[in-house]
Amino acid sequence: MTCTTEGCGRATSLYLCTACIVELDALLVDVPALIEMLAGVRAGTAVVRNPAAGSTGGHAGSKPPGSLDAMLLQAWLQQLPERAHTAAHDYPDAGQWLHMARIWVKQARELVWGPEEPVINHDANRQRLREAAPPMPTRELLPWLRKHAKITITSMDVRDWARRGKLRPVERDPLPTYHPHEVLAAWHDTRAQK
Ligand SMILES: [Zn+2]
Repeated sequence: MTCTTEGCGRATSLYLCTACIVELDALLVDVPALIEMLAGVRAGTAVVRNPAAGSTGGHAGSKPPGSLDAMLLQAWLQQLPERAHTAAHDYPDAGQWLHMARIWVKQARELVWGPEEPVINHDANRQRLREAAPPMPTRELLPWLRKHAKITITSMDVRDWARRGKLRPVERDPLPTYHPHEVLAAWHDTRAQK
């Protein structure tokens, strides 16, 4: 038969395919802790890192920030099965559980632990640099990379990479200039070798 998760479509002998079982388990593993911490949010004893759950949360009324959300999420999380494999085995609509777990666990994590840290995508950054940045001398390059690519390198790194042929200056006179995306590539290379 086919996995019951919407949009999955993999062939499986249970109601969930292996990939969906693994994904559901990864969500379920946090559920007991989240339920406990949500109780703390409701009681006002938990330190909630998410300021967005407060005045901008969109819930009218005099409830303490996040308390209504916490109550709902707690009730929803308690409905989730304990183990993904059991769900895949026993529930013909197990795909629905995965669908709901994705939403509820994410909301609960955000309420309790705060929004996820933005991930810096170095590959995308490098691509953007290639399109946007002209070659520049080292003393402009370093602050530029710190600001736009969130990496810190030293002029010694640049000299070292140039000496070892990892990096080729675009111009040599009056100062050597480098393509930022090539410097970033050299930086990646060096890190990959460590
Ligand atoms: Zn699946």
